[in-house]
Amino acid sequence: MASYLSQEKDLIRQFFSFNIVHIKRSENKYADTLSKLASTNFEHFAKDIRVEVLKHSSVPQNQVLVIQTGVESWMIPIKAYLSSGTLPKEKAEARKIKHKALNYQLNDGVLYRRAFLGPLLRYVDAKDENYLIREIHEGICGLHAGPRMTVAKIMNAGYYWPDMHLDAVQEIRKCDSCQRHAPIHCIPKMN
Ligand SMILES: [Zn+2]
Repeated sequence: MASYLSQEKDLIRQFFSFNIVHIKRSENKYADTLSKLASTNFEHFAKDIRVEVLKHSSVPQNQVLVIQTGVESWMIPIKAYLSSGTLPKEKAEARKIKHKALNYQLNDGVLYRRAFLGPLLRYVDAKDENYLIREIHEGICGLHAGPRMTVAKIMNAGYYWPDMHLDAVQEIRKCDSCQRHAPIHCIPKMN
């Protein structure tokens, strides 16, 4: 939102004067419908209405990326190598990064894991890992699935990071609901 605000302030500077009018939702039906149509399928009415497809975001993307790079993580040396060829000074470490980098691809500053089958998987850093596990495990559609199922769902959603199974096991152990409603085995083990 901050980037949109600065964009708007830049635009305002180009006008001699301007006036902001609040339009009630009930009075904005036509514009509202038009914007919704354009976001779905507009080919059938493209003859009557001029539609311009914006190929670039109206807000410079790199402003968002600057915020993300502040996080210290294992991704940083790999990103540095892939974007500018910068390697750590220590030879063994440099070799390790070079070798690891074979599995990755950098698209617009975002790191992806190359996969032989299926889509590229987007890497997430430590800050987002636990959020993703919780969201998939117990979020809106969460079924409190076990670690294996949770990991499969995260990968289906297009995300990946090393040790994701281990992290899922640890995070799911903290789930209050799973602790309370886990099945209790009353039958003694047979030896
Ligand atoms: Zn749970």
